[in-house]
Amino acid sequence: MTTVAAYAAPAAKAPLERTTIERRPVGEFDVLIDIKFAGICHSDIHQAREGWGEAIFPMVPGHEIAGVVSEIGPGVTKFKAGDRVGVGCMVDSCRACDNCRAGREQYCTGSGMVGTYNAVGKDGKPTYGGYAQAIVVDENYVVRIPDSLPLDVAAPLLCAGITLYSPLKRFGAGPGKNVAVVGLGGLGHMGVKIAHALGAEVTVLSQSLRKKDDGLKLGADHYYATGDPATFEKLAGSFDLIVSTVSAPLDFGAYLSLLKTEGTLANVGAPEEPISLNLFALIGGGKSLAGSMIGGIAETQEMLDFCAEHGIGAEIELIRADQINEAYERVVASDVRYRFVIDTATI
Ligand code: NAP
Ligand code: ZN
Ligand code: ZN
Repeated sequence: MTTVAAYAAPAAKAPLERTTIERRPVGEFDVLIDIKFAGICHSDIHQAREGWGEAIFPMVPGHEIAGVVSEIGPGVTKFKAGDRVGVGCMVDSCRACDNCRAGREQYCTGSGMVGTYNAVGKDGKPTYGGYAQAIVVDENYVVRIPDSLPLDVAAPLLCAGITLYSPLKRFGAGPGKNVAVVGLGGLGHMGVKIAHALGAEVTVLSQSLRKKDDGLKLGADHYYATGDPATFEKLAGSFDLIVSTVSAPLDFGAYLSLLKTEGTLANVGAPEEPISLNLFALIGGGKSLAGSMIGGIAETQEMLDFCAEHGIGAEIELIRADQINEAYERVVASDVRYRFVIDTATI
């Protein structure tokens, strides 16, 4: 066991505070990672505030982890001390079901994926995430961060990056495709960068034009305010693919009207409330409404290599651990440009 400093929510909706946690001894196939940076995902806030239902406390959130391997178990073959690595939203899965074998561990139908935090590990103990100075993870759930990507801007790729990369690839974002990204937050800004790098024509649909200059610099070709009803008239029938990253319930019917015939609205946002939808919005133009959750381990590595090749990192605001609670408030207020990343040396 190793005792490490961490930031935890002691109870639902309580402010996060400094504490210490125990990490398991480094097992045969484990790597001990000295965490350098941890991104703040809106999912951390949903869970720390129990917005998605009952959660496990104390909770150490954080599933956008970038660090350096400091020790390996005797059976580890993929990593050695000193390697730059990342850990995303899962730290285990059954490894035997069809999805695990196909590299879709996030959809494990055996035991279910084991979340990096707010979950119970195979040892029966709660898992604790990346707002901490170190973590022990099985090597099969660790990915390599290419040398050209600085660790601080790479951290958010482990959730925000893969969550957008996966549906953009699956639904064919690329040259000749009109792709819209709804919400220019942590996920959305990665979506703009990645869709642009894939060669798609990219439009940002944001609540206002407040972040327009940023959106265009990130690689968007067009930028519209969804707060202006004229946007929905002007853009009706425009997109092959829309990816919604919005953390609050949205009028999906209105967004489906922006798709071309047989277009797809892929949702990755995870609002706490259900939405209602008039299904005529789907059947009218043969449209699809899809969901997507992060990505598999091999796909996460592919995404990191793609980002390195295209020089893509997140736009971040580096914070100290004692600024986490303030950062949460700013994320909830859509006041993030575009990901808060914790310098874990300050914990
Ligand atoms: P974020 O940084 O807060 O970004 C969300 C963006 O949604 C905001 O920046 C804002 O963009 C827009 N938005 C917020 N409230 C809105 C409202 N009431 N109406 C319209 N637009 C609104 O959050 P994030 O970290 O990117 O995460 C976004 C969502 O995805 C969260 O629910 C999170 O839990 C979920 N998530 C899902 C997965 C997955 O695997 N599917 C992975 C990670 C996160 P504008 O200011 O541009 O309008
Ligand atoms: Zn996340
Ligand atoms: Zn499985």
